[in-house]
Amino acid sequence: MKKRIVIKVGTHVITEGGKLCAPRFEKLVEFLSLIMEKYEVILVSSGAVATGFSKIQLDKKILSNKQALAAIGQPYLIQYYNEFLQKYKKFGAQILLVSDDFDSRKRTKAARDAVNTLLKNGILPIINENDTTAVEELVFGDNDQLSAHVTHFFDAELLVILSDIDGYYDTDPKEDKNAKLILHVDAIDESRLCKNINTGSEFGTGGIVTKLKAADFLLKNGRSMFLASGFDLSDAKNFILEGKHSGGTLFASRK
Ligand code: ADP
Repeated sequence: MKKRIVIKVGTHVITEGGKLCAPRFEKLVEFLSLIMEKYEVILVSSGAVATGFSKIQLDKKILSNKQALAAIGQPYLIQYYNEFLQKYKKFGAQILLVSDDFDSRKRTKAARDAVNTLLKNGILPIINENDTTAVEELVFGDNDQLSAHVTHFFDAELLVILSDIDGYYDTDPKEDKNAKLILHVDAIDESRLCKNINTGSEFGTGGIVTKLKAADFLLKNGRSMFLASGFDLSDAKNFILEGKHSGGTLFASRK
């Protein structure tokens, strides 16, 4: 049986200047189709709001505008994935979830059954948060935590986060030139989980803290996470396809 993994891709990886970045998007889809040969792959993709904004420039600071932009952008995003996947004779299916879906056993099971059926048929489930119905108290707010829940509740072993950063450093590499990449983390210090969120741009909502929270959740549930660059996919490729840890941070308990 194929192992199951979840790939999460951040807004920065697939967009540039608020628009979809075609060359990077193409490389990502090529990478997805390659790993689909060896694994059951679930994709969690951000980028709906940015894609919506490239169609109509509504003020993103207003929540209802952001929800509208997600509603506008989401179908285009799925369309782009399917256009590019076609080259590899594959296609994807859209699943929109809110955090509440993981609080109800019945709803989690319904979603898991659908995901299992898609995977059995070689289809790529493309998951995003349902921004239109997500109310403030129930919102994940960033796809890092959503993808950690997807990994755990849909029985995947590993979550791979493809980010604008190539791993987890001892200090913020954008502020400190001497920051050192940490290759392996087996436990997250509680104090690291409550720092101010530092996100890379106006479209991003994650930052390193949400990634550490995702890793913490997975480590506590006996699963692993790999944080690597989504701009240069070689570390992710080496790790997933060759079992070689050339770069990127692995969050996993030591055996
Ligand atoms: P994404 O769009 O993939 O979700 P973000 O841009 O939201 O990614 O988060 C990654 C950013 O977090 C990095 O670009 C980096 O500036 C910042 N960051 C802060 N502290 C660290 C750290 N210790 N290690 C790595 N990145 C960090």
